[in-house]
Amino acid sequence: MKITVLGSGTSQGVPVIACGCKVCKSLDYRDQRLRPSIHIQTQGKSFVIDTGPDFRQQMLRENIKQLDAVIYTHQHKDHTAGMDDLRSFNFKQRQDVPIYGRVPVIEQLRREFAYIFVDKAVKYPGVLSVEVHHIDNQPFEIEGVEIIPIDVFHYKLPVFGFRFGDFTYLTDVSSIPPAEFEKLKGTRYLILDALQKEEHISHFTLSQAIEVAQALKPEKTYFTHIGHRMGLHAEVEKELPPNIHLAYDGLSFEVIKK
Ligand SMILES: [Zn+2]
Ligand SMILES: [Zn+2]
Repeated sequence: MKITVLGSGTSQGVPVIACGCKVCKSLDYRDQRLRPSIHIQTQGKSFVIDTGPDFRQQMLRENIKQLDAVIYTHQHKDHTAGMDDLRSFNFKQRQDVPIYGRVPVIEQLRREFAYIFVDKAVKYPGVLSVEVHHIDNQPFEIEGVEIIPIDVFHYKLPVFGFRFGDFTYLTDVSSIPPAEFEKLKGTRYLILDALQKEEHISHFTLSQAIEVAQALKPEKTYFTHIGHRMGLHAEVEKELPPNIHLAYDGLSFEVIKK
């Protein structure tokens, strides 16, 4: 299984529009963060989690030519705004793009992209076609790949994290109910939300995320959904415990089966 971080930034991305802070002015490529998303390649299949506003740029940068499904964590715009650009895969693969999300997420997509969900008979030519799959807090399978949802809270909004065998992706989280925390145990690779160092209502801070990582002890943990207030990548890296790192755009790693 190969994981690629398509975007490691918070909702505004880094640099932030009109900000002149040292992080936003940094020339280090690891301080340039697109909106959060990952690509997963496993068992010959290719999945993305979320389609944020930078989806097109991310597909081009990583040269992704096949997409078997999109799995949505939640309905916020930094995770959904790029959905329209999935239509390139309609043309390339000559099929509807399977999308997976919980009912309120799909309902919001139906409202925000109403033109996509109209009846085929009246649909404008060339508009995106998707195949909708509703998920709930039960393990599900996409083309033979088993996925376990982890139901966490982003302030009061339920958000799904997803576990694929030894790997878990958990973005946009400020609390993990105990029963869901149990499902994380034994994960060997973890990508986890850590917005900044200061308290935040709907995201883990750096120290809260470190606490979660240290309780689970994966072989590697990478933090994501990072804002400009986190500080410079190179400086924050030096402050982190062993086996815990900040993710950056384009980071990729193999999850080798034990
Ligand atoms: Zn977000
Ligand atoms: Zn800034």
